[in-house]
Amino acid sequence: MAGKDDPTLRSDTRLVTSGRSGAFAEAVVNPPVWRASTHLYASCAELRERKADNRDGQFFYGRRGAPTQWALSEALTALEPGAAGTVLYPSGLAALSAALLAVLRSGDVLLVADNAYDPTRSVATGLLKGFGIEHRFFDPLDLEAYEAAFCDRTRAVMLEVPGSLTMEVCDIPALARIAREKGAVSLVDNTWATALGFPALERGCDIAITALTKHVGGHSDVMMGAASAGERWYHRLRLGAQQLGHVVSPDDAALVLRGLRTMGVRLERETASALAIAGWLAEREEVAHVLSPLLPGTPGHALWQRDFNGGCGLFSFVLRGGDDAARCRLVDRLDLFGIGYSWGGFESLALPFDVEPVRSRMAWPKAGWGVEDRHAIRLSIGLEDKDDLIADLERGFAAFNEG
Ligand SMILES: *Cc1c(COP(=O)(O)O)cnc(C)c1O
Repeated sequence: MAGKDDPTLRSDTRLVTSGRSGAFAEAVVNPPVWRASTHLYASCAELRERKADNRDGQFFYGRRGAPTQWALSEALTALEPGAAGTVLYPSGLAALSAALLAVLRSGDVLLVADNAYDPTRSVATGLLKGFGIEHRFFDPLDLEAYEAAFCDRTRAVMLEVPGSLTMEVCDIPALARIAREKGAVSLVDNTWATALGFPALERGCDIAITALTKHVGGHSDVMMGAASAGERWYHRLRLGAQQLGHVVSPDDAALVLRGLRTMGVRLERETASALAIAGWLAEREEVAHVLSPLLPGTPGHALWQRDFNGGCGLFSFVLRGGDDAARCRLVDRLDLFGIGYSWGGFESLALPFDVEPVRSRMAWPKAGWGVEDRHAIRLSIGLEDKDDLIADLERGFAAFNEG
């Protein structure tokens, strides 16, 4: 195959060419923002025909999307090797909860990685529990305990890599293979690396979920989520989303598609800056541990090198000593880092966290760490000059030491 739809094109090229095959493509670069709830039919016969044809690209009614949303889905599918299609959701969390609802039934058991995003844990302990779906948390770094956690009702495994806040890299190919051997579906929250940095389906997972709110949107002004899968699960996800009434607005889809076009260069730049800043932090005596798989010598680095094609600007570090007040002095002193949730935008953010209350299976502080190693900060490195960010952190450490 030749031309711009060639699947052998490299991902940076596909970021530019994908999602541009609609009727608009000959006339303009970007899909129009196509606002439509009602689609019109030429005849009663056509009205009946269309109903059965539940695919992207087929007009029916707004709940099945319209050209702007289809363009985004098509682009995301083209970037995810092994995907038959991509379903869009109004937020990353909506993608996670809807995907879990699409694969689980009352009486099933779900295994959840202990370092999953906290709202994902709440979906398991709240929403799913209410539907009679049981959950078990497991340590994703302990393959033996994971394998032992399966029972004959285990239907799905919820993974995330790296782990939220604490950034452990687990062996996804092994975890996904064991899930498959046990007859369970594997879902992975791939928001950190995106399909560019971690081809989740190719690495063995069944469903790859991304909070598009983060890197793909990339500009901190839109919320959306996506789930991509091969034939087997894509149709189930699609019907599930339609039954839950999940639709995204064409304006938001256009914003996310705009973000997607530059995601490759943004990720590359953020990763380079994050690596430099993580290395600088590792040398500071106020820092006990840097939690980033990008940094050689850190736990998870070898697996990251083996399985990933890239990284991003998100990582954490743990302060040596100090207390919450000292940590707050540090964070409050930062001028270039905003204080806020989310990440993956063009601007840098800092977030204080204590991970202990949200882990039930993984030890924290970790083995070999001092008991004082508990006050942590997560950084999302944006597109500012890295030396300006380092100077800002330097001022933060001065405030930390003032106490
Ligand atoms: C933010 C985030 C989500 C949820 O995305 P929203 O769009 O905010 O709902 C899911 N997973 C991870 C890892 C996240 O960081």
